[in-house]
Amino acid sequence: MTPSCQVDNAMSETSLSALAAQLAARQVSSRELAQQYLDRIAALNPSLNAFITVDAGRTLAEAAAADALIASGNAGPLAGVPIAHKDIFCTDGWLTTCGSKMLSNFIAPYDAHVIQRFKAAGMPSLGKTNMDEFAMGSSNETSYFGAVKNPWDMTRVPGGSSGGAAACVAARMAPAATGTDTGGSIRQPAAFTGITGLKPTYGLVSRYGMIAFASSLDQAGPMAPSAEDCALLLNVMTGFDPNDSTSLERDKEDYARDLQKPLSGLRVGLPKEFFATGLNNEVAAAVDAAVAELKKLGATTVEISLANSKLAIPVYYVLAPAEASSNLSRFDGVRYGHRAPEYADLNDMYSKTRAQGFGAEVKRRIMIGAYVLSHGYYDAYYLQAQKIRRLIADDFNEAFKACDVILGPTAPGTAFKLGEKSDDPVEMYLNDLYTIPANLAGLPGMSLPCGFDRQGLPIGLQLVGNYFSEAKMLNVAHQYQCVTDWHARQPEGL
Ligand code: GLN
Repeated sequence: MTPSCQVDNAMSETSLSALAAQLAARQVSSRELAQQYLDRIAALNPSLNAFITVDAGRTLAEAAAADALIASGNAGPLAGVPIAHKDIFCTDGWLTTCGSKMLSNFIAPYDAHVIQRFKAAGMPSLGKTNMDEFAMGSSNETSYFGAVKNPWDMTRVPGGSSGGAAACVAARMAPAATGTDTGGSIRQPAAFTGITGLKPTYGLVSRYGMIAFASSLDQAGPMAPSAEDCALLLNVMTGFDPNDSTSLERDKEDYARDLQKPLSGLRVGLPKEFFATGLNNEVAAAVDAAVAELKKLGATTVEISLANSKLAIPVYYVLAPAEASSNLSRFDGVRYGHRAPEYADLNDMYSKTRAQGFGAEVKRRIMIGAYVLSHGYYDAYYLQAQKIRRLIADDFNEAFKACDVILGPTAPGTAFKLGEKSDDPVEMYLNDLYTIPANLAGLPGMSLPCGFDRQGLPIGLQLVGNYFSEAKMLNVAHQYQCVTDWHARQPEGL
């Protein structure tokens, strides 16, 4: 460990490794730790609305079990550290809503694979975090349970769809949280709230029990203050799962293994398309400064081109709704979730249930999806989009011949005002310009804080790596975080 890293980590008493060390040394019990976070949630959630469900009894019972695990001497490295889960993960016995009225009464009868992993690691759940309905959104305003506020400025959005997760970590209502990312939903809210978030290579984390939005794009990942935290969480989350047919069977990796590696010789690719018009000046300046910092650490830069990435948004808004329209057909009022209280016959029950249960954005996506998949339009839209998806992936393949990691802004601007973009879906969709290409290609991406704008709002830096290069990306991010303190800053007055 470099000396500056040691100083940095020591400054953060709430880093996951610091909390784990306190638990292992019996300076604090998991129950006490969970109670401290529950108290903070009770104080802040009424204004931030980051959690949909908090259940102190369940959390403390899980924490007590973690204390027993620690006492038994068989505990894993993060045992006893509590974590918040996005309300997209089925959680046995907990309300699991996916931010929708459709599932507003749904108690999951089983645990998602990700939840199983955290339970097996002895990490108690602090509750279920708010999100855009069915993870469709970039601002958390589509949630049936109301918008989440950005802890840095309560008049602004925290980003989405994992906005509750991002806000709760930024406000230190949880040491870390899970999120999911279909087109940017981990990275963009991480950028808007000044935290670190990572979307893994598609297939590394099981989607079993994660309520499906667009199955070929959805991927779960960690959200926490630092890259080191994310590495430790990724160690828990990843792993083969026979219940997910797209889960990858690979040897277990330690994602923290390269954190301390020096960056000399690192080739950073700067896609010229990501620094073109539409990028806010202050964001551009902060990203440039981060590049300069990495150069000081020994990295070199090379200009690359991702020429087809300009088509990522139209491609995504054909493919994601197509998959969503199919995935969401299961919500019909028959087996679980909302059912219209009054109806004439079965078809009437379906249509009233869906009319009442889904919000406007979800309905819009289902209609687009059904349209692009319909006879006569399939070839013109869906098939074309699949072909361009391939070209986008090919651009990345080509780029990774010249560089080890791709760097750019996470989002074109900083957190916008609540309501500012809600009437204009296209304006909202444009926010994911830089994040969607990695999902389409199945590549890992992460966002880390790299500064603040003049209004005091966090700015996010994005790294995209080649397949399975999570350890490399985390290495770059950690080395950057050893010489900067953006990730350690916290909103004042909370
Ligand atoms: N904002 C994008 C959308 O609305 C991405 C969402 C996500 O990653 N879940 O679809």
